[in-house]
Amino acid sequence: MIKMKYCPQCGHRLAYTRIEDREYLACESETCNYVFWDNPLPVVAALVEYEGNVLLARNKAWPPKMYGLITGFLEKKESPEEAVLREVKEELGLNGKIVELIGLYPFYENNELIIAYHVQAEGEIIMGRELDEVKVVPPTKLKPWAFGTGFAVREWLKKRGIER
Ligand SMILES: [Zn+2]
Repeated sequence: MIKMKYCPQCGHRLAYTRIEDREYLACESETCNYVFWDNPLPVVAALVEYEGNVLLARNKAWPPKMYGLITGFLEKKESPEEAVLREVKEELGLNGKIVELIGLYPFYENNELIIAYHVQAEGEIIMGRELDEVKVVPPTKLKPWAFGTGFAVREWLKKRGIER
């Protein structure tokens, strides 16, 4: 979560203000109308299918046993589809194609909106600099986690008749 203290437009202090029943940090100056809306950021996520299994990755910054989907932010003027395939290429070295959009999942704790895709990928795995480890899991062994991208995993499994 971003904690801003000063107005990026005029340098005055920011203070909490109520606007239409919600609280926002807004500029205290009477001649400035800056409001920090703190809108959720879109994040693309790839459930990567690789040789019939699902590829999970462990980010270097994560605790030892935590694995997840490939995720990333969009670049300027990039579509979500382009972004998710770029992330798969950067993080795994794989060429992917989109099978389908799994869905949209709000991740309130991170102030993000996850756009999750099922991506089929092939090639040789070459891990990117953000990753520590990858593992392949057969869909029948996949256990969705109860936050963020885990809800996309659960829905993807459900469509394949696997209830978790
Ligand atoms: Zn200001």
